[in-house]
Amino acid sequence: MTEKVKTFVVLMGAPGAGKGTQAKLLQEQLNLPQVATGDLFRANLKQETELGKLAKTYMDRGDLVPDEVTIAMVKDRLEQDDCRSGAILDGFPRSPAQADALNDLLEEFGGMINVVPFIYVDQEVLIARLLKRAEIEGRADDNEETIRNRMNVYKESTAPLLDYYSEKGLVVKLDGDRPVDEVNNDLVSVIRGN
Ligand code: AMP
Repeated sequence: MTEKVKTFVVLMGAPGAGKGTQAKLLQEQLNLPQVATGDLFRANLKQETELGKLAKTYMDRGDLVPDEVTIAMVKDRLEQDDCRSGAILDGFPRSPAQADALNDLLEEFGGMINVVPFIYVDQEVLIARLLKRAEIEGRADDNEETIRNRMNVYKESTAPLLDYYSEKGLVVKLDGDRPVDEVNNDLVSVIRGN
């Protein structure tokens, strides 16, 4: 019996672009789980696991948690039963090494990347959004200094992945500076159209 190919949606966008909000909506709409590395790290932090303690030092500064650790955590998550049809990846991959590792994992699991929606929002709008989120959610890494570092890390390590996925014809750019439901409508059609 041949197994169905797992499909993965890789949501790209700078911190604050709305990946998490959209991934949560898409879970229901596509019947695929959201795999958000930031959420996985925060859950570990809360439970005070060794992984959480290690991740905290990086998260507090807005730096990336080392690739090796992140990749092992994602592998573990994607092996779980709810990912049997695929997943919506939110916040992963974030570096070239992670993108390579994802390719290897997809080969291992028999999966493919369906589409890479890129939610674009202007940097000043993003910073304002993140500062507002800091007031509402009280996330430790939503202070101005850390936010600026996260933006730089995004530009240096993560944004180059857009070129990599563009070369494969996978990237679709969406205007993220619109109401959540408008962005969501576009996302659903982009993903279903693929
Ligand atoms: P996020 O919730 O996606 O904004 O992630 C919060 C923080 O978790 C980031 O600033 C990083 O410190 C860490 N993190 C999340 N995803 C990754 C990843 N794919 N690679 C390395 N670090 C990550």
